[in-house]
Parts: sequence; C-alpha cells; structure tokens
Amino acid sequence: LQQGIRDPRTVLRLSELKLPLDHQEADLAAAVCRRLRIPPEQLREVRLVKRSVDARRAARISLVYSLDLVLELDAAGEQRLLRRFAGDPHLRPTPDTVYRHVVDGPPHSATGAEPPRPIVVGAGPCGYFAALLLAQMGFRPLLLERGKDVRRRSADTFGFWRGQQPFNPESNAQFGEGGAGTFSDGKLYSQVSEPKAYVRKVLEELVAAGANAEILTLHRPHIGTFKLATVVRGLRRRIEELGGEVRFGSLLDGLELDPASRAVRGVHLADGTTLEAGAVVLAIGHSARDTFAMLQSAGVALEAKPFAIGLRIEHPQPLIDRARWGPAAGHPRLGPAEYKLVHHCAGPGLEGRSVYSFCMCPGGLVVGAASEPGGVVTNGMSQHSRNERNANSGLVVPVSLDDLRPYGRDRDDPLAGIAFQRHWEQRAFVAGGGTYEAPAQQVAAFLGRTPPGAASGGATEGQASITPSYQPGVRPADLRTCLPSYVVAALQEALPAFERRIPGFAMDEALLTGVETRTSSPVRLPRHSETLVSRNTPGLYPAGEGAGYAGGILSAAIDGIKVAEQVALALSACSKG
Ligand code: FAD
Repeated sequence: LQQGIRDPRTVLRLSELKLPLDHQEADLAAAVCRRLRIPPEQLREVRLVKRSVDARRAARISLVYSLDLVLELDAAGEQRLLRRFAGDPHLRPTPDTVYRHVVDGPPHSATGAEPPRPIVVGAGPCGYFAALLLAQMGFRPLLLERGKDVRRRSADTFGFWRGQQPFNPESNAQFGEGGAGTFSDGKLYSQVSEPKAYVRKVLEELVAAGANAEILTLHRPHIGTFKLATVVRGLRRRIEELGGEVRFGSLLDGLELDPASRAVRGVHLADGTTLEAGAVVLAIGHSARDTFAMLQSAGVALEAKPFAIGLRIEHPQPLIDRARWGPAAGHPRLGPAEYKLVHHCAGPGLEGRSVYSFCMCPGGLVVGAASEPGGVVTNGMSQHSRNERNANSGLVVPVSLDDLRPYGRDRDDPLAGIAFQRHWEQRAFVAGGGTYEAPAQQVAAFLGRTPPGAASGGATEGQASITPSYQPGVRPADLRTCLPSYVVAALQEALPAFERRIPGFAMDEALLTGVETRTSSPVRLPRHSETLVSRNTPGLYPAGEGAGYAGGILSAAIDGIKVAEQVALALSACSKG
C-alpha cells in the first residue's frame, strides 16, 4: 500500500453497470473508470457481486453488473467521490453482509450437567440449516429424518422413476435426506426480499458444502440435482464435525408435552423410542400429512392455508429461448431461458382468480413427486447443465379457504387442504391407469380445439415434436377431469393469454401433465412473530415450508437459520435463569 491510501477493505459498491452481451473481460474495468470518471490507476480491484441479464429488448441484450470496487483513494478522495455521486443510488459504500451468530456458544450449566439437546425434525433445507447453525453455536443438535440418507434415497427415487422399483412412501421425491428440493432444479432465489446477510450465509454454506462458487455471484443461481446430493452430504458432514448428530429412519410420531404448561419435553419416534429435548424444531416440509394429523391430535395450533393447484406444461426449450433471447438464443453467456408468467382472469365466474407459472425448470424433466400410495403428483427438476430438450413449469391456480372447505370434516378443519390435494392426486392416479403413470394431454385437446373424441389420445399425437419427459411415464387422458372446473376454466383462459407473451406457448402440441398439487403447504402452524415459538406449545418451533413460513430452498434455509437463532437465545436464557 502506498502511504496515505486507505485500507483496501474499504470498498464501494457500484450497481446497475450495463455492458453488451459480447463484452470482453477487460471492458469491465474500463466501464467502471468511465462511469466513475477516474483514471485506471485509481482502480485497484474489481470484485464481482452479482451478474444478471437485461433481456427486456431481445435485440439488445445486456449484462448488468453489481461490483465491489477497491479504489486507490485516500479518505478525502473517497469522500469527494461519494459527494460527486451523492444523488446516484447505484454508488454506495459496500454494505456489511457478514452473518454473525446471535450467541457465542452454549452456556455452561452451574451443576455441570448437560442440558437436553435441541432436536430438529426433518433434513430438508430448513432442518439442515437450523441444525448447522445450532451446531456452529455449540448446541450439538440431534437431527431426525424419517427417510434415508441421500445415496439410498436416490436409489429408491430414481429406481421408482425408471420403473425398476415400487413406490416407497418413506423414500421418494419428498422424503429423505435433503428434503423436497434434493431432486430439483435447485433454484436458489426467493420471491420475497430476504435480509442480505442471511442470503449470503446460506449461499456461502452451500459452497462450503460442495456447491459451485458461481452461485455467489449469479443473479438467479441454481445447483441442479446431482450436485445437490453432494451438497446435502457436505452439510451433514459439517453438522457432525461440529458435534451434531443426524439419524435417518427416525419418524417423529408423537410429542412429549408437560401436562400443565404444554411445553415440549421430548419426542416419540415410530420405532418406540422417546428422546428428551431442550427444544424441538419442526421442519417437516409440506407433505408430512401423517405428522400434521398427529400434531392436530396433540392440540398443536394448526390452521388451513391457501395454496395452488394445476398442471405442468412442457415446450421445446429452443421455443422459450427464442421468445426470451431473440436472435441471441443459444449464446453461451445466456444458457437456457426461463420465464415467469401471471394472468389475472376476467371471464365469467373467474373474477378474482389467477394463473401463474410455478417452479419453471429450463432444460429439465417432469418427475413424479408423490409421497402417498395411490396418488400422482408432478413437479420439475434439472441437472446443473439444464440440457434436456424440454422446458417445463407448473401452471397453477391459487385456491382459497372457501374452495377447500367442502373437503374438510367441518367448517374449520385445518386439514381440509390435504383432503383436497389427496382427492385430485387420486383422480390423476386413476386417470393415469393406476400404475403411477401420469395423465397427459396436448394443449389442443385441453382447450377443446380438437374434437372431444380426440382428447384422450392427445398426448400421443404431438409426441414427435414434444416427447413427454415425465418419469415413470405418461398415459393419454382428459386432464379436464383431474382438476376442479374453475381451475380448468382459469387455465383455459390463461393459455391463450400466455401465447401473446411467448409465441408458441399455447401451440397444439404443448404437453400438459398432471396434477401439480404440492405448490406450498396446505397448513400453517402459527407461531409468535418474534420468538418463532408455536402459538400454544412452548419449546416447539414450527419452521420452513411445512409450517407455512417459506416457499423454496432458499427461504426454507433462511427460516431454519432464524429459528435456530431463537432456539439458541431461548436455551441460553433458560440456563442463565
Ligand atoms: P422439506 O424439504 O420438505 O423437508 C422436510 C423433511 O422432513 C423431509 O426430508 C421429510 O422426509 C422430513 N420429515 C417429514 N415428516 C417427518 C417426521 N414426522 N419425522 C422425521 N422427518 C420428517 N424449491 C426451490 O427453491 N427451487 C427449486 O428448484 C425447487 N424445485 C423443486 C422440485 C421438486 C421435485 C420438489 C418436490 C420441490 C422443489 N422445490 C424447489 C421446493 C423446495 O424443495 C421446498 O420448498 C423446500 O425443500 C422446503 O424445505 P423444508 O426444509 O421446509 O421442507
């Protein structure tokens, strides 16, 4: 460092710097100097924070950078620069996004006796991050997972998809190490804006566990199925190295509650074991229907929650690439294109309804995501390369509590949504022939463009252009019988509207497979907004997607961190008290 130059850790963040798609590496520094009107020798280092694509004008796609800049400026020079750009929201001191633990380590009890460990139930992103954080803070958590470790789970799930193994209700796309997102596209972004330090913490831990470092800097990062399995194993190793423990084949089927206060004292497992617990984090995902029923009979606060239902649609990936990237489709810096669509219905009887695309997987596969025998559920996944021939996404319609009520045992049945999901999943199972093949239909037949008689044969007609990717296989059927009539009508209205956004979207041969029911949790486990503890069961921490506090891998992991913080604070306070 030259004399008088500030510590290079003092950096400025420049955002929204646009460069043409084909720019050279060196153009970046030159563009920074031009933008800040500084000579090149004042720019000491450029660190990539985020890179995104601006494709609003397909003819002139640009890359948009957010950069941290280390400048050869003394303090006065830096202040002068900031003053010059005072009105510019895109140049600011770099924000502090370092994550800091809320407690330094578990307090030591005065008697020397070990307090009961926190128990985390569910090894999905929420449970794994809750356990990791508790382990990092020195609490030696015990993590219980009903399914198998990711290697044995992968063998069961891929075996089922390939038709080599029967469906296993305890080891499938929903249950087992890594949770629901293990065989997925591994998209790591959230619909809601999360605090940056939490996002950074999750991404850095995923990289430390084996994910590619590019997820730290891409605007819309994704990991991909096989890589996710490696990452999940890496997370487990880190928890164990820090004194935590992970047990598979451990199905929580009861809670040990204090008769007076209802506080959780421990958990019961299906194998008859009872375990003492200092606190219980419930990160069970949205598909643990038996566990929700157990919680209801244990009197844990539980309420029905709206979610969405629909179908999965497949198109050739190049069709989506052309619509989004125009002449730049196929450019190596762009990769396969994504889309996000919303339609607000206006047709008679559909006022207030909407349709949106859900969990879009570029270059991916549609997969069987059921967790109960006798049901068919679709979802999507992809490899890191996203190089399968089809793009797929869910097209789903939100359902309200009023829609769910007729399926409940009474007006306020919190499990009405589960009964609703099960009803339509079983319809799809029957329509698919009762073999776990999924019912499928071309858009032409679904929209009634082909005569009704041709509808059931729809899936085969266009297979020359769109091969269904669903595993374990599809069977031609009329999908209009597999969904509530208002969902069918909403989808029929939305498809032509989406065609106006993406030419070819509602083409005759586009392929629909169903049903898509596991979009988010059908229940919520209410909790106190600050302590995150269950509304009526002290010591129980409902967390993640199943409890209704997350939607996706990133937000589930962040909720796991937030809950771990509250557990750590409560356990520390307890032992001090
Ligand atoms: P889960 O991941 O569901 O984990 C819950 C865990 O708890 C499971 O492992 C389950 O076996 C276990 N469990 C349940 N009950 C018990 C019990 N009684 N005892 C012990 N263990 C129990 N999200 C994205 O952000 N990006 C994507 O690309 C994406 N793609 C997806 C693709 C597929 C095929 C699926 C199914 C989901 C996808 N999702 C995706 C959604 C995402 O996976 C979930 O939002 C996320 O996994 C929720 O995390 P969670 O930890 O809250 O619950």
